[in-house]
This record gives sequence, C-alpha cells and structure tokens, in this order.
Amino acid sequence: MTAHPPFPDINSLWQETAGARPIFGGLSGDHRYDVAIIGGGYTGLSTARYLARRGLSAVVLEASRIGWGASGRNGGVVSGKFRVAFSEIAGRFDIDTARRMHDLGIEAIDHVGELVEDYGITSADYRSTGSLRCAHNAVSLESLKKEVDWLHQALGDRACSILSAQEMETETGSRDFVGGMLNTHGGIIHPLNFVLGIAAGLKAAGIAVFESAPVISLRREGSGVLLETPDGTITARQAVIATNSYSDLTAATAAVRNTIIPFRSAMIATEPLSGKAGSTLLAHDRSYTETRRMMRWFRKAGDRLLYGGRGAFGKKDSASAFAALHKAMVRQFPELGQTAVTHRWSGLVAMTMDSIPHVGRLDERVVYAVGYNGTGVALASSMGKHVAAIVTGESPNLGLLTSERLKAVPFYPIREPAVRLVAGWYQFLDAIGR
Ligand SMILES: Cc1cc2nc3c(=O)[nH]c(=O)nc-3n(C[C@H](O)[C@H](O)[C@H](O)COP(=O)(O)OP(=O)(O)OC[C@H]3O[C@@H](n4cnc5c(N)ncnc54)[C@H](O)[C@@H]3O)c2cc1C
Repeated sequence: MTAHPPFPDINSLWQETAGARPIFGGLSGDHRYDVAIIGGGYTGLSTARYLARRGLSAVVLEASRIGWGASGRNGGVVSGKFRVAFSEIAGRFDIDTARRMHDLGIEAIDHVGELVEDYGITSADYRSTGSLRCAHNAVSLESLKKEVDWLHQALGDRACSILSAQEMETETGSRDFVGGMLNTHGGIIHPLNFVLGIAAGLKAAGIAVFESAPVISLRREGSGVLLETPDGTITARQAVIATNSYSDLTAATAAVRNTIIPFRSAMIATEPLSGKAGSTLLAHDRSYTETRRMMRWFRKAGDRLLYGGRGAFGKKDSASAFAALHKAMVRQFPELGQTAVTHRWSGLVAMTMDSIPHVGRLDERVVYAVGYNGTGVALASSMGKHVAAIVTGESPNLGLLTSERLKAVPFYPIREPAVRLVAGWYQFLDAIGR
C-alpha cells in the first residue's frame, strides 16, 4: 500500500498546458445512487456517461483530482491495437475472435472522435494522423510485412502499408529504421485535456463527480453496496471498479489488485524545436513506436518532441531511467543532442497475465474494467459502453476482454523482481537483435 490519497498533481507537460478544469467538490454526508464508480479516469467517467444514458443515477469517486492517474499523464497515442497481434489471436483462438477484437479496437478509435465532438473538447487537439511502427532491424521488418499481408487478407483491413527505409527517413527525420508499417487508424491527443473535457461534459449533463474522495472500503450492505470515504458514504445497488494500475491506493479495490502487474512507463518532453529539427522531425504528426520489445515511442506535442519508454523499476522515478530515455532519443535523433529536456514524468501501466484488458463481474454487485496494458486511451474511454451493458444485465460480445480470462498474478508479492527479470531478458533479446 502506498501513502494515503489524495495526492498532488504530477509535474507533466500536460499539466502545464491543461485547459480550464471543471470544479468538483469533495464528498460529505451520506448519499444514495444506483451505481457508484471508483476512479475518475477514462474508464470511470465513460462508465458514468453510459449509465446515465440508460437512465441510472451514477456517481464517480476520484481519490485525487480527475485525471490524476494514467488518463492524465499518458502519451496520448490513440490506438486500437492490443499487446497481442490479431494474427496471433486468430492462431491461438479463431478468426472470429480476432475479427471481433479488431472491431472493438476500431470502434474505440472512432469513439474518441465522437466524444471529442459530443463534448466539444477542442483543447484535446485530437489528430487522426495514424501511427507508424518503426522497424529497428530486418527481422522486425519482415514480421511487419507478414502482419500487413495478414490484415489485408484475413480481416480486409487496408489501413496498413509498408514503408521503405527512405520513406521512414522522410517521415521521421531519423536514419535509424530499416522500414516501417503505416497504419492510418488512430492518431494523437492531449490526454489530460481529453479526460478533463469528458468530466466537464458529465458535469454539464448533471452527473455527480467527487474529487478528493478516496474510497477506503467497499462492502456489501443490505441488497447493495456501501462505499466509505473519509468524509462521506455512498449506498448503491452496484459498484464499478475503474482503478486500473492504481488499484493498490486503498484496500477497497483489493479484489482486482492481484490481477495486475503495475509497470512504470516514463516520458520526457523537449523544449519547442526550431530550425531544421522543428520542420523535419516527425513532420506528419503521427504516433511512432519502435519494434524493440522494450518499446520506445515518440510523438510531437505542438513544437516539442515527446519520447517515452520503460521507466524506473520500483515506486519512484529515477534520474537514470530518464537519462536512458534521453540517450535513446539522441541516438535516434542526433540533432537533439543540445536540445533541452523541459519535462520528465511517469505513471503506471497495468499489465495482465494474458496481456489483454478485462471487463466483467466480480459478483452480482461489483463490476470492473482493468488491465489496459498501456493502450487504454481509446479503449478505456469507450469501455463505459460495455460496463454499462454488464451492469444492466446484458452479456455483450467482447471477444477476449471477458472476465473469465482474468487471472490472478501468481506469486503476487514478488511481482516487482519478476518484472525486472522479464524486462532484463527482453533487453537482452533486443540487444542481440532477436
Ligand atoms: C506513462 C503512461 C503512458 C501511457 N501512454 C499511453 C498511450 O500513449 N496510449 C494509450 O492508449 N494508453 C497509454 N497509457 C495507458 C492509459 O493511460 C491507461 O490505459 C488509461 O488511462 C486507463 O484509464 P483508467 O481510467 O482505467 O485508469 P486511470 O486513469 O489510472 O484512473 C484510475 C483512477 O482511480 C483512482 N483511484 C484509485 N483508487 C481509488 C480509490 N480507492 N478511490 C477513488 N479513486 C481511486 C486513481 O486516483 C486514478 O485517478 C499510458 C499509461 C501511462 C502510465
């Protein structure tokens, strides 16, 4: 367990460039709603939106401020992919499951555009510029080629194409890549303004949201549930756990905590770029990821370049993890050698045993949606649609996202050294070019 929430906002580029914040009070006294939602990130807010559409009264309880968790500090890459390739899903399960997962990803991307439009979130600066996977060696490029062929033939997805090394240099401004895969689905967004905009939309619709309201206990009471916060309680018919990688802040969400391995992801932002670097690096404003296992990713935010990857192991940031990111960035973009880094921050992503997010019921009174494995901007912000269906007794076809597949992490108490071990192995494989 970490120190007690609420916690102050982190010092990120997104905080510095955040638009107006909707103001929410704290919870005091005893209240009753149909559904109480724990967590004020994309998942929790999206759930409140769709429960309200079904005529249910919902309340969102956020331990700190809206967007304090991953939703306010992520890279803002809008993607519909999962950590497991669709071709692998088809191989391990069947083609219908792969197709359903692919559809869920595309629906989630489209949903980002709908939310932005519906709530008028212009400050989120959503750009549907697509993504580029950057092959670091010939073996990776070969597997990207196979993936593109498979997507064309098996799923009829023509949004992906292969780029040559020269096209990659024009696209990225870096000579580091032997080729790449362009995917025109998805794009980039200001993640904090996105979550704040959704919260503002809920507020305008009269949906209850409380900040500085850590749920310290969740228990059965009568025919429903009772949620306690330091200054007030909520009685509800059902509860939804939407705390993802921050499920260990209090004991209230202990039931999902041991299904998640929190993994620190970090990023750095440069000062605004000018001159040749400003005009040639990442000129098409897409999101960019490397094919290495210990994946690094990058994008522009205005005139700045953001560079992200694995953060420090353990509970806190370390200067050496940020220095490693800086070194990797300069190796890829040598012209940034003298460019100042102005912001450094990190957050936790929630890995699951099968690398797939899961949504479902813990029991007849508690529903959860967790485990986005570092790709939750689109999926978590549309997840409320599925959660609301489950809360109201439906069983939507969610492919592999179903609860039956959510597994507890074995040897949970030693998860941190285990993560270190796996990361070390991945780094070794990357280093030897496998
Ligand atoms: C550094 C980083 C970079 C990332 N980059 C990307 C990216 O580029 N693209 C992408 O798709 N995904 C990315 N992700 C993942 C993405 O941000 C998450 O999947 C997504 O934000 C999850 O949203 P959520 O609402 O489920 O969780 P969160 O946004 O983490 O919200 C959970 C909230 O629950 C609150 N909470 C916890 N316990 C309690 C309690 N007891 N009572 C009340 N409230 C509580 C927390 O304070 C927190 O605000 C990244 C994640 C990180 C950390």
